[in-house]
Amino acid sequence: MPAAIASGVLRGRGVSAGRVAAPAVLLAPPLPEPDAAAVIAPENRADEVSAIEWAAVAVADQLRSRTAQATGEARAILDASRLLASDPELVADATALVRTKGRSGARAVWEAAAAHEKGLAALGGRMAERVADIRDVRDRIIAEILEVDMPGVPERDEPFVLVATDLAPADTASLEGGQCVGLVTEQGGPTSHTAIIARSLGLPAVVGATGATGVVAGSLLLVDGERGTVEVDPPAERVAEARAAAVVVAFDGSGALADGHPVPLLANVGGAADAATAASAHAEGVGLFRTEFCFLDRTEAPSVDEQVDAYRGVLAAFPGRKVVVRTLDAGSDKPLPFANADHEDNPALGVRGLRIARRSPQLLDDQLEALARAAAAESAQVEVMAPMVATVEEARDFADRCRAAGLDRVGIMIETPSAAVLAVELFEIVDFVSIGTNDLAQYTLAADRLLSELGDLNDPWQPAVLRLIGAVGDAGRAAGKPVGVCGEAGGDPALAPVLVGLGVTSLSMTARSLGRVAAALAEADQGTCRRAAKAALGAATAAEARAAASTVMSAVHVG
Ligand code: PEP
Ligand code: MG
Repeated sequence: MPAAIASGVLRGRGVSAGRVAAPAVLLAPPLPEPDAAAVIAPENRADEVSAIEWAAVAVADQLRSRTAQATGEARAILDASRLLASDPELVADATALVRTKGRSGARAVWEAAAAHEKGLAALGGRMAERVADIRDVRDRIIAEILEVDMPGVPERDEPFVLVATDLAPADTASLEGGQCVGLVTEQGGPTSHTAIIARSLGLPAVVGATGATGVVAGSLLLVDGERGTVEVDPPAERVAEARAAAVVVAFDGSGALADGHPVPLLANVGGAADAATAASAHAEGVGLFRTEFCFLDRTEAPSVDEQVDAYRGVLAAFPGRKVVVRTLDAGSDKPLPFANADHEDNPALGVRGLRIARRSPQLLDDQLEALARAAAAESAQVEVMAPMVATVEEARDFADRCRAAGLDRVGIMIETPSAAVLAVELFEIVDFVSIGTNDLAQYTLAADRLLSELGDLNDPWQPAVLRLIGAVGDAGRAAGKPVGVCGEAGGDPALAPVLVGLGVTSLSMTARSLGRVAAALAEADQGTCRRAAKAALGAATAAEARAAASTVMSAVHVG
């Protein structure tokens, strides 16, 4: 248990820009298993029974009102839970355990739910999938009986900063549309999905803030997502200053260098809501649609029809524009229960991304069919690419499957050093590539992207990463084919001219970064970009690469 922190400054890594001040809310920890040994005296059992009955009614009511406000898949999930909470059998079994065995209310609900789970698991198939729903309802009823927060992202009516050890992808996905205005975690690195979702939702975020979970709930936190600081109970004038400084640089919708050379600036999106935000921020298209974000909490593979709907939601936001759709990148830091059920010792090096197709080719073929149908129904120019490609055979197999499905613009992500080194051969097979600098840095430096301790290694300015990007850029120029960057490096204004000088032809980023990247590119012509790239490539360290590029860029300002 960390010591309580009432004031002072915590330091971590700023991963999503912006400053915000709001009270701290701690991610509620998992509920401990209620004590099995406690026996309730017979005269107190009626109270425990009514505690269960009231809690079940309260939970069903809460779920009913949340279901009414929700839409789409969230609505279906909440409604399923509401029905379970109103299920008289669960409550009857639990109250019987109180009456006959003297179990506490919480323990009785726990045991009754366990018996229901066993029954469902034995039925297998779709029924077994409902085990997670039973656990959700069990936890809600127990949390109500014990008067504690439900595990997971708390539901609040006022804005708050969420503080957690780390967030699971499903937690971060449930932040959208809620009252969370900032994130602080003890763990996580700059390219963890907490960081990526924070950026896409425009939530200022600091990860790797040691001691953060010791903050007293309700204290005012001033989160600076640029400097990586979290001030606990800051002076009022600092809060006022932060509130005044929340500015987003506008983008006019066409990225270009100072000499007019176009560099399309595209958006990274995870679903229809993001796509709408990106379209209103004037993104020129979508450079990375992370399709796995549509299905993070699913235990069963989505049907082709459901997929068509999810993909059309994104395509519809960009009529006539380019939308690069990435096939499911399940595994590692974003496992999908229906694709990565088994435990792996090294999931980042395991069966993730395109490798899932080795064991479940149908999953990929279904997705390609859904994409082809979505593309036919909308006017966006759909391009499809695969994540985590390491070999020429993988690229060939993927391209064959895409073309067989009727998708003719096919690409791959360059995320492994192997793919970067084989870029010349890969361009013989695909129409374009997109460099995933988050994973490319992780695999080149052999540094887990989730570890804040290794954040300095997960840096696209590392010379080895820059040189691999340069090799891909050269191969793209030689083949006359496009080279995008869609990792977080694509949204770094200081790096943008360097990437263009290395041969990158488009950049994709969170919509909020478009304006700042556009402004940086508008200051450099093609010659300057090439000089900045050459200077960075010649550096021996990441710090030297940054300094060398910055010297070239400041000469432009002076001259
Ligand atoms: C990347 O690795 O840079 C990338 C864009 O993919 P993701 O962050 O989703 O793994
Ligand atoms: Mg990746």
